[in-house]
Amino acid sequence: MKLKLHTKIFVGIVLGVLAGVFLKDLTPSFITPFGQIFMRLLKLLVIPVVFTSVTLGIISIGDTKHLGSISAKAFAYFITTGFIATSIGLILANTIKPGAGSVLTTNGLHTIVEKAPPISELFITIAPQNIFESLSKGEILPVIIFAILLGVALISIGDKGKPIVSFFEAAFAAIMKITDWIISLTPIGVFALSANTVATLGISSLLSVVTYFFTVILGLFIHAAFVLPLILKIFGNYSPVALFRNLLPALAVAGPTASSSAALPLTMECLNKGVGVPNKITSFVVSVGTTIDMNGTALYQGVAVMFIAQMYGIHLDFFHQLIIVLTAFLASAGAAAVPGAGLVTMVIILNAVGVPIEGLSLILPVDRILDSCRTPVNLWSNSCGAVIVANLEGEKLQPETEKPQILHPELKEKSCDLKKAMPYDSERELEVVGKGRDFFKH
Ligand code: ASP
Repeated sequence: MKLKLHTKIFVGIVLGVLAGVFLKDLTPSFITPFGQIFMRLLKLLVIPVVFTSVTLGIISIGDTKHLGSISAKAFAYFITTGFIATSIGLILANTIKPGAGSVLTTNGLHTIVEKAPPISELFITIAPQNIFESLSKGEILPVIIFAILLGVALISIGDKGKPIVSFFEAAFAAIMKITDWIISLTPIGVFALSANTVATLGISSLLSVVTYFFTVILGLFIHAAFVLPLILKIFGNYSPVALFRNLLPALAVAGPTASSSAALPLTMECLNKGVGVPNKITSFVVSVGTTIDMNGTALYQGVAVMFIAQMYGIHLDFFHQLIIVLTAFLASAGAAAVPGAGLVTMVIILNAVGVPIEGLSLILPVDRILDSCRTPVNLWSNSCGAVIVANLEGEKLQPETEKPQILHPELKEKSCDLKKAMPYDSERELEVVGKGRDFFKH
């Protein structure tokens, strides 16, 4: 019988906890190394994933007409909701304090909070000065800036840039393949890391992880069930319940796959046909938003960084938390829409505030379950954004069922051919219908 990945992960955690309790002495030499190898493989992905996914995300904007006004509204929405999401995460982490009372020490770890740069320095250091140095040192913010510049440059040189665009598409596909392979090792990774945590910290450490888990869930619930619906109602003039109902098939894919990009085609379909958002809006807001607008991921990263800091007894003041809000947007935007990507790019935030990246191993055991919860929130936020941008652009939402019917069989056939040949476009269909009416008048 072939077990699903999340079942294997669950089994990995249970076996890891048991190994940590009963094989306490053997764990450091024989089990912990597997966890360390898994962590190294995860870190290996960060730069290649961020570099290729941000460059391709920017290039995809270039194909869209009406770019200026739609992208300005979309980005205003992405940034505002991203900041709100992270702030909710931080408020909850400060109130609930899921990692308080832990005994972890930062001895021997490289990154400690005193080394966190002041915000002015952060702005200076994100300006890339040598891209190869940044790539090799894993400096993610300069890499993101360079990827954005490169993407914009490739758009502006047009056809000349095609070979590089194809290179990036191929590189991205290959890196996603490697990501799949590494993700398939998660059960072994969580087994070793859970065993290590229990063997070194005792079973009580798991209690903190459970509190952390529920803090993230609470935050996601508040954001998805109250904040986003309110924003949708005010700026999108659309019923959150109706949107939710229309999106159910896409949400049902996003949860178990933990991948917004796996659910992307279905999300487009639900929004175009079920809600009636024009294709020119979904093709930009949803496709770009899938990698850039990740509210669920930003919120979870905010809680996770605070949790790890609390576990190490590191105090992050208001100023550090401001850096978290700023960098969580970049870290979530830099995450590819695939399982585990948010965990990988969290390194950006940890580095920015000087919290040891080794702390990621603390949250790993529950990360896959949280991924299945934060991914639908990413998709939900994106879809709310598409409806809001459509409304602000003055578009009238016209679901498939309310569209004028094409009665003449010949025209109906023509419209089917059109649909096959190109993505669904409500305006184009209305044009065909209009022509049909004129035809019958004569
Ligand atoms: N799995 C998430 C997504 O696809 C990204 C992440 O938070 O890991 O949207």
